[in-house]
Amino acid sequence: MKKQTVRDIDINGKRVLVRVDFNVSLDKGIISDDGRLRAVLPTIQYLQENEASIILCSHLGRPGGKVVEDLKLAPIGLLLSELLQQDVTCLDECIGPRVEAAVRNMKPREIILLENLRFHPEEEQNDPNFAKALAYIADVFVDDGFAVAHRAHASTEGITHYLPSVAGFLMEREMEILGSVLQSPQPPLVVALGGAKISDKIGIIENFLHKVDTLLIGGGMAATFLKAQGLSVGNSLVEDNRLDITRNIMERAQRNGTSLLIPLDVVVADSFGAEANSRTVDVEDVPDGWYIMDIGHRTLDVFRAAIAKGKTILWNGPMGVFEFPAFSRGTRELMATIGSLDGVTTILGGGSTAEMVDALGLADRITHLSTGGGASLEFLEGKTLPGIAALLDKEA
Ligand code: AMP
Repeated sequence: MKKQTVRDIDINGKRVLVRVDFNVSLDKGIISDDGRLRAVLPTIQYLQENEASIILCSHLGRPGGKVVEDLKLAPIGLLLSELLQQDVTCLDECIGPRVEAAVRNMKPREIILLENLRFHPEEEQNDPNFAKALAYIADVFVDDGFAVAHRAHASTEGITHYLPSVAGFLMEREMEILGSVLQSPQPPLVVALGGAKISDKIGIIENFLHKVDTLLIGGGMAATFLKAQGLSVGNSLVEDNRLDITRNIMERAQRNGTSLLIPLDVVVADSFGAEANSRTVDVEDVPDGWYIMDIGHRTLDVFRAAIAKGKTILWNGPMGVFEFPAFSRGTRELMATIGSLDGVTTILGGGSTAEMVDALGLADRITHLSTGGGASLEFLEGKTLPGIAALLDKEA
């Protein structure tokens, strides 16, 4: 069911509470990446053009329901005001009489940023009274925090019981693009999965196995596939309790004629570290005690050729331990291939994949870089996200 957006509701002159995801990495007050702030600027600007007063709310980190100095949102408010070239008032609370007083005096176009929602345990508990207190300060709720839409928290789900609730533009784009790859991807569809653990990606594999033309498996999870084929993978992380399901996935792929590509060769290291000794070996020759760290060059060639045949490419999770430069080649080069494609829909997700896109300066060569880690995964697994389900339906 399509959801109403900020375009479908009267916000003129209204007080609009916007849930954003400003969960940036913050090091001594310095924000290294302003992507999460930039991502919601279109919604903020639209609200301003329509003379709304804007109250932003977000969480930051895991304060565990109490005030943590380093997780206050003031540095984020400062950066936001630089981006918008406008004052942003940071409050030191997110509910209560002082917030109510500040909001009462707001003028159209003014922006307030509430304090970290997770300073209150009630936020993650989806406490109705906390949700009511948040709702009390606004006329309309706009959800632009896609990255937290898989959580039923007071500021994502609870609040929708007390205010008319619609999607912001970022949320709309995520729903449309991820929704289209789920429902009607232009074929051939190539899905590339990597990352640490197969258990995190089984849901996506299950949901896409019958839809994909080609499924590429790299990263740490490839070790479980290799072991499931009877190969020895040294000291690589294997989820033994997933071997049966992995075998079952391979059998189903074969039955359906789905091309399931796992590594032919891998870069192995004698310890799990940036400076480890390493070499490239065929998957049959992983030495005892060594670790699979990246895909090898033959595998890379095969994966690149498969990707070049796709019209829709979905990628989640790195091909190797990309944090160590010696083992980042598979991820970097596959991403460079994706970035070089024209006329192809390319959709990338997963926190670490996003970091890599930024590092390679490929953001404008990718159709869509999802802002949600867990939320993208759950969406692509076909699950209903509580923060989305709770928004008003288009037809309503
Ligand atoms: P995910 O969040 O599931 O996308 O996983 C990302 C993590 O997977 C990164 O921190 C990588 O270092 C890790 N990873 C990728 N390849 C491997 C591998 N071969 N062995 C262990 N970890 C890996």
